[in-house]
Amino acid sequence: MGYVGRFAPSPTGPLHFGSLVAALASYLDAKANDGKWLVRIEDIDETRCKPEYATDILRDLQSFGMQWDGEVETQTLRKPFYEDALQKLNGRGLTYACVCSRKEIADSATAGLEGPVYPGTCRNLHIAVDHESAAIRVRTTSEMFAFTDIVQGKIEQCIEQEIGDFVLKRRDGLFAYQLAVVVDDAAQGVTHIVRGADLLDSTARQIYLQKLLGMPTPQYLHIPVAVNAQGQKLSKQTLASAISANGGNACGLLLSALGFLGQQVMALPLDPTNGELLTRAAQNWDRRRIPRSRTATSPYS
Ligand code: GLU
Repeated sequence: MGYVGRFAPSPTGPLHFGSLVAALASYLDAKANDGKWLVRIEDIDETRCKPEYATDILRDLQSFGMQWDGEVETQTLRKPFYEDALQKLNGRGLTYACVCSRKEIADSATAGLEGPVYPGTCRNLHIAVDHESAAIRVRTTSEMFAFTDIVQGKIEQCIEQEIGDFVLKRRDGLFAYQLAVVVDDAAQGVTHIVRGADLLDSTARQIYLQKLLGMPTPQYLHIPVAVNAQGQKLSKQTLASAISANGGNACGLLLSALGFLGQQVMALPLDPTNGELLTRAAQNWDRRRIPRSRTATSPYS
């Protein structure tokens, strides 16, 4: 089967150095493997996303010279597929409705990988799944999930103990990222997922859902997340500066992103075009040089 990779930005703000790095790593890994590179707009959290950011991100990718294959998919247009997957899990008794408030969970939970571990309060209460303000959670088991990340190595996680039964559909009716991403990666035939290591701890949950839904598990490659001097992930919330290829420094930004990814800085003509730079970078792309850490300090913040 041929390589299919993807970049899946959430349009919560303009492109910043961290998202450029994720786009570039997924693009180069696809090109170096003669693969396809898809772009998917992950706007499923409608409370945080804005269509104008999606437009800006796509324009910026193109002006950096990163052209995607096929059509851009958009999660808000794909809700029936998420509903369908949810119904399959509901029908097999793998989910349940939960009416716990954040505070109730925080008060009764132990600390886990991503905040409180859901203590299973509503697991056996048989609340109707169409209850007006219930979230839908998937039942987890004590099984240990292990996978080998191409850069980060062997990762093991017991979802039940470290995360707890997790949300597939939120109380406000929005589908959760974990469900949408699994449905979309399978629908688009994605074979390789290259993304920031802030999602490393989500991977076991995604593999669990793939198994429940009978979907294949792609290979994973997690790159370090770009953080500012205070160790915070670059984002709109941490006031990361927007970067744009139109500022005249596209090649400089691409070279900085390559440096961040540990790649050899190539001998290039004095004034390379973005296209030349990307072609060379794909030829020289070496996964073994990517730093094996979850975060690294960004030269831009
Ligand atoms: N949409 C996610 C983000 O922008 C990335 C999801 C993924 O690559 O799986 O952080």
